[in-house]
Amino acid sequence: MKTLWHNGTFFTMKSENDTVEALLTENGKIINIGPYDLLKNEADKEFNLNGTYLYPGFTDSHMHLIPHGEKLLRLDLSNATSADELMSMLENAYPDLPESEWFIGEGWDENNFPDKRILTKHDLDHITNSPMILTRTCRHAAIVNSKALELAGITKETPDPDDGVIERDEHGEPTGYVKEGSMHRILELIPDSTEEWLTKALQVAIEDLHSLGLTGAVTDDLGYNENYEAPLNAYKNIIGKSKNFRAHLMFRSNVFTNIMEDNVSYEEPWITPGEMKFFIDGSLGGRTALLSNPYLDDPNNYGTTVVSDEEIDELVATARKYNQAVAIHMIGDKAVEKGLDAIERHPVPKGKRDRLIHVNILRDDLVKRMKKLPVVLDIQPTFVVSDFPWVLDCITEDRLDWTYAWKRLINEGFICGGGSDAPIEDPNPILGIYAALFRKKPTDNHDGYLPKEKLSRFEAVHLFTSSNASSIGKGNERGKLDVGYDADFTVLDKNLFQVSEKDMLNTKVVKTVIAGKVVYENNNY
Ligand SMILES: [Zn+2]
Repeated sequence: MKTLWHNGTFFTMKSENDTVEALLTENGKIINIGPYDLLKNEADKEFNLNGTYLYPGFTDSHMHLIPHGEKLLRLDLSNATSADELMSMLENAYPDLPESEWFIGEGWDENNFPDKRILTKHDLDHITNSPMILTRTCRHAAIVNSKALELAGITKETPDPDDGVIERDEHGEPTGYVKEGSMHRILELIPDSTEEWLTKALQVAIEDLHSLGLTGAVTDDLGYNENYEAPLNAYKNIIGKSKNFRAHLMFRSNVFTNIMEDNVSYEEPWITPGEMKFFIDGSLGGRTALLSNPYLDDPNNYGTTVVSDEEIDELVATARKYNQAVAIHMIGDKAVEKGLDAIERHPVPKGKRDRLIHVNILRDDLVKRMKKLPVVLDIQPTFVVSDFPWVLDCITEDRLDWTYAWKRLINEGFICGGGSDAPIEDPNPILGIYAALFRKKPTDNHDGYLPKEKLSRFEAVHLFTSSNASSIGKGNERGKLDVGYDADFTVLDKNLFQVSEKDMLNTKVVKTVIAGKVVYENNNY
């Protein structure tokens, strides 16, 4: 069955302003493009787009799909604008929670509070007798109540582990604010998520992404809760069956060897195997990103590394043993340096690319080294909107040149994938494109943070389409509108290349199409 899509503006993304009048699809692929009159004789069926705008399917280069679904199913604290509001959200949540079950909340950010106050265990102890953990927006830190500390065996006498921080009051008593490894010790106490729960979370996440126009993502789900079978089964339960989505799966280092040794199968082309994922540092917001200079506002703190240099070396060597690339979380320049040291010692197998995730703070010498390596940079434009202006309190002036320097990185010729790191940020790609273009909140009355790093419209849309396809080695089959490419489309009510700054955020998704099938439809069009 040949379907002719017409009566819209079709942006091919092959070059700036390149459009076609119609395209013909069959068996999930684009089989012809060109003028409507020429193609209509070949078509068995027509699909009228009613004057809307069609782009290659938008994708996300770095996210956590199952945790995004869990955030939608659980208590979301990301909209709290003060510590008091956060408290009242907690008071109203889970009224019938049994004392044996965990009280879980996600996404608070003290940078949104006028006084930047972080709640303590004393505040949380008023809410519930259940053990409670509330992860910070960055997911590298959390606040917990006394019950959770007790279950984890964390007392005044417990020293800080090498890979984490236990914040304390002036008497040395833990306040309930825990970071990195100290937080993970507590998260590990939460009973393992069942396959049924993970499947439900994934289903909710994919439905949400479809409604945002997303057709695929590079995602970090295998091993985040210590095993790979349950999350992988969740994928196989849904993708290719009730829902379609292009999921490129990274493997957490804790389950990597098991996955390589077990003869794991995937549902290709929907589910494809990716790289070994691990973390070197934390987040700037939690002051745990690893910097080569101390934090400006915390002169004894250089950040936290969650792995030793020997472990980094061993992880990269293990990936290479199985002929795999790595995907490394690195936010601070010192973390990037450590990652590059190991990658240079153990080069990536021919034809593959390592993913450097975040790379927020770089240096000239690091960029020079990165240019010699087959790497992909996973950048999150919305981080600019969330992290400025406070990020300027963290870093010294001489680092500003390479701070969230998306334009410079693109100009240097790197493949930059555009993503959201959801659930850290909202996965809506329009927010990502807006952030890449304007580098500010819509309510900010200035020219954007570090405005010379603003991308052009073409570059910004490219990030979320063709660049992401190239980043997973599929640049010749996805991310553009051309013959032989996947029939994955995002249909919007606005022209992103012309819409005003003000109207861009009112853009509506009209349809989301994967392999020629409509997976989401907005009934208002
Ligand atoms: Zn992430």
